[in-house]
Amino acid sequence: MMGRGPTDCCAVAAPPGTVRVVVSAPATRRPDGAELVVRADWVLTVDDRDTVLVDGAVVLAGDRIVDVGVAAEVLEERRGVPVEHLRGHALLPGLVNTHTHLAMTMFRGLADDRDLERFLATVVPVEARVLSAARVEAATRAGAVESVLAGVTTALDMYFFVDAGLRAAAEVGLRMLAGPVMFDGGPGDLAWDRLLGWAEEWLDRHPAGGGWRPVLGPHATYTVTPAQLAEVRDLARGHGALVHIHVAETAAECETVAARHGRRPVGILEQSGLLERGTVLAHAVHLHDAELAAIAAGGAGVAHCPASNLKLASGLARVPELVAAGVPVGLGTDGPASSNDLDLLAAARLAALVHKGIGAPGTGGDATRLPAAAVIRMATREGARVLGLEDQLGSIEAGKLADLVAVDLDRPHTQPVYDPASAIVYASGRGDVRHVWVGGRRVVDRGRTVSVDEARVTAELRGLQRDVVG
Ligand SMILES: [Zn+2]
Repeated sequence: MMGRGPTDCCAVAAPPGTVRVVVSAPATRRPDGAELVVRADWVLTVDDRDTVLVDGAVVLAGDRIVDVGVAAEVLEERRGVPVEHLRGHALLPGLVNTHTHLAMTMFRGLADDRDLERFLATVVPVEARVLSAARVEAATRAGAVESVLAGVTTALDMYFFVDAGLRAAAEVGLRMLAGPVMFDGGPGDLAWDRLLGWAEEWLDRHPAGGGWRPVLGPHATYTVTPAQLAEVRDLARGHGALVHIHVAETAAECETVAARHGRRPVGILEQSGLLERGTVLAHAVHLHDAELAAIAAGGAGVAHCPASNLKLASGLARVPELVAAGVPVGLGTDGPASSNDLDLLAAARLAALVHKGIGAPGTGGDATRLPAAAVIRMATREGARVLGLEDQLGSIEAGKLADLVAVDLDRPHTQPVYDPASAIVYASGRGDVRHVWVGGRRVVDRGRTVSVDEARVTAELRGLQRDVVG
């Protein structure tokens, strides 16, 4: 079933640091149940060489990509297969949001212009008062709609009433990874033991498969103890689950944790066996050199959330250094109450800009940091690597799941297009996302969601606002 991808033999030389553009492709292809050919002016494969096909085509069969190549050759070999020709569009892998809380759409705008501590002091009591499964389902549905309309096909979520959230995401067609959220907030060890027991039972009912894996979400090292984290690790590893945790988001958090436990957050994770592959560190803003090296040595991934970190004045993660050290770094929006949207393309642009502009104190930054192709890679393939799903997601290659996004670049604000990665990162926006497929299923068609009524979703959010202020 594996088709052949483009090869070196027909590459056009590109200036150093830019995309390699392929104008021809190998001719050997096989019948494989192809159902649809999607043709676009550019296909950003985000393969291991960041190959961009000019006038490319992607062949879908069931939930998979079975072939990708130059359109003329693919079409010749796929006569009779329906073709969707997206003129002026770029096709790229579905975007991967590596850290969010989708249901927090219901609190968007409730607690702006304050730091994390004051943000939580406002939001947490409201959550305790208003959350219910029905409200989380409605709010997650809205977050999932906003996500797919922005080209996000996979999201790593952390929120309460996880089954309600998963139901909502499935209805929209978003590939949402989630699982039990864990706090040491209950009355004594009994509460934690019951939580752990429920988490184990939940993991038994939600095995990994089909581009999805279960998650355990111990909230942070200041809300879960080191001993509890070690238990979480053992439970997660026994079930192929990710561990998703907030880490070193603010300087105050690092000081609090160090004062309480004698180690900073990264040190606690190291002690608990949680710096290895399979752990997603949300934020990782405040890292000492030795902590950065420990993350690189351990294999954990980092979810970089530039909008949230800037808005809450948390600081700026050492992303160029993390990437240089080999740490998988994906992009995240964080929840829509702190960032305040689920726009991963905006996060990609912000990451590309802010890490160029801000260098070591007293320096003027470095305009070569995080070029457009690199942040697209962070938003797709690296995000999949952070989630341990790089074998199935994150690039347009035969054998991978058909998670695709078509961005219209034939617009006054995006033409002319010298480099589609540049146009997408520096000039386009989520309003240019026209079509989205998740696992071969069309979830956005001409800029509208396919399976849910957006007007109803918006009306539900207005209703949730009344619940919150009431
Ligand atoms: Zn978060």
